Amino acid sequence: MKCVTIIGAGLGGLVSGAMLAKSGFKVRVLEQHIIPGGYATSFKRRVRGLSRPAEFEVSLHLMGDLGEGGALREVFEELGLMDRVPFIRAESLYRTVLPGVDIRVDSLANYQHDLESRFPEEKQGLQTLFDLFIQLRTEIIQMMKKTNMGESNDLLQDGPGVFAYNHLSLQQVLDQYLSSPELKSIVAQQWQYYGLPPSQISVVYYAYAWTEYMLHGGYYPEGRSQQISNALVQIIREHGGEVLMRQHVTQIQVEQGSVTRVMTKKAEYESDLVISNADPIQTFGKFVGYELLPRRYVKKLNSLKPSLACVQAYLLLDVDFSTVFGEKDHEIFINEYFDLERAYEEVLEEKYDTTPFSITVYENLNSSYQASGKTTISLFMLSRYEAWSELNEQDYKEKKEAVTQSLLHRLERVYPGVSEHIEYVELSTPCTNHSYTSNNNGAIYGAQQSVDQCLHRRLKQTTPIDGLYLVGAWTQPGGGYSGVIWSGYNLAKQLMLRYKEVVTT
Ligand SMILES: Cc1cc2nc3c(=O)[nH]c(=O)nc-3n(C[C@H](O)[C@H](O)[C@H](O)COP(=O)(O)OP(=O)(O)OC[C@H]3O[C@@H](n4cnc5c(N)ncnc54)[C@H](O)[C@@H]3O)c2cc1C
Repeated sequence: MKCVTIIGAGLGGLVSGAMLAKSGFKVRVLEQHIIPGGYATSFKRRVRGLSRPAEFEVSLHLMGDLGEGGALREVFEELGLMDRVPFIRAESLYRTVLPGVDIRVDSLANYQHDLESRFPEEKQGLQTLFDLFIQLRTEIIQMMKKTNMGESNDLLQDGPGVFAYNHLSLQQVLDQYLSSPELKSIVAQQWQYYGLPPSQISVVYYAYAWTEYMLHGGYYPEGRSQQISNALVQIIREHGGEVLMRQHVTQIQVEQGSVTRVMTKKAEYESDLVISNADPIQTFGKFVGYELLPRRYVKKLNSLKPSLACVQAYLLLDVDFSTVFGEKDHEIFINEYFDLERAYEEVLEEKYDTTPFSITVYENLNSSYQASGKTTISLFMLSRYEAWSELNEQDYKEKKEAVTQSLLHRLERVYPGVSEHIEYVELSTPCTNHSYTSNNNGAIYGAQQSVDQCLHRRLKQTTPIDGLYLVGAWTQPGGGYSGVIWSGYNLAKQLMLRYKEVVTT
């Protein structure tokens, strides 16, 4: 029986662990934090007047692809997650507010119809563009499935669309099919989720992520993202594996080119295989040492560009928000202007009063989310790590307060009177992301999904060290819930094929 040690209980690590434990590997997960999940966690705070602590979602807004026919749903079914985690389907995917435009998106058909009536001259272009997005998605899933079954895939034959478009940005493709700059910005609205503007983000990545929600709906777990992480831990334990908390890994021992053991501050664990869910800079820079790697690989690691980080304000209101403020949607993007490149520049320049932000109202997904008569809201905004990490303690504290006030002021502009109902507010920053997950630069999506860092140009799950593998946001296919789940699933499938363990369930 092969013994696998997994460093980090983020979703990438937990999914690979659950799959491998189910198929007969001996799995051990070592996590530095006190709870599993990495970013896929929740936290509790005591709020005056509440008998139970309020529980806040750390990260998840919605997951796509879990409706009937969704590829991720198949993965969840194979894992046994659909039986353990009740998911709520969101009525709408998001509402986007741009100058003079307010669009509610619930399904591809309705969205397309809405856009065609606003931009009738773009009907043909929209159809061709959306068909292309769907084609790219279909090809990627097919290629992943072929690889997971041990069949080689040929980009030219199996992914002609991916082959043709893998070197293009979203903007380049929008320019091919659409004319109106406003329409292009509307279609590219989800850039805020992925952290790169249309001129830089890979069109193949955008198409894949976009279609996840548009084709197979948006879902949220009844018990927050923590419920998914906890269920994965349970699966690992039920299949003889262990998930150990407060285990800060410091070293991976390599002998004659192969991994032999993993060291924490407290213990040493012998291991045939090691899967690292920690970011690759830490994995190779601290745990292994660059001197054991080929020069080309070190060059690749040194050139990795991390995604942006974020600030997020966690709010509890003493009011039923949808009744009092009439907001029925759960996800609202607020944009001050159409120019998304300018918006991105403003993120980099830290113009917190005007950069786009999103408002997530959790009770509009699940009416019994918190105590009755309360509303839980997150305000999310992209942000640079260096804008926070280089501050001294006092400046950091003051900046946190200033950014919190700026976000609350902007919320008040959208919903006048809301400030009077805020019972609790707390801001996380890129430094918070880093301190809880050790992700380089507090990155939320690992390496950014620019054209030069997507698809086959992204770090693979295999590494130059025999027996050492990577999962998570920095690796193929990418960050976000779905991406990291696929990374863990795909690696497990490949290891199962390679070691031909008997599937026990
Ligand atoms: C505020 C916010 C909102 C987001 N919203 C969404 C969203 O709506 N939809 C979406 O799809 N994605 C969203 N994301 C992104 C998504 O959460 C991440 O991309 C994804 O969860 C990363 O998973 P991962 O497998 O890479 O592991 P991570 O979550 O990065 O976890 C890595 C784990 O490794 C552990 N670790 C690191 N170093 C060590 C060590 N030395 N020893 C032991 N353990 C170690 C860490 O403690 C951590 O638990 C959001 C992220 C944030 C921060």
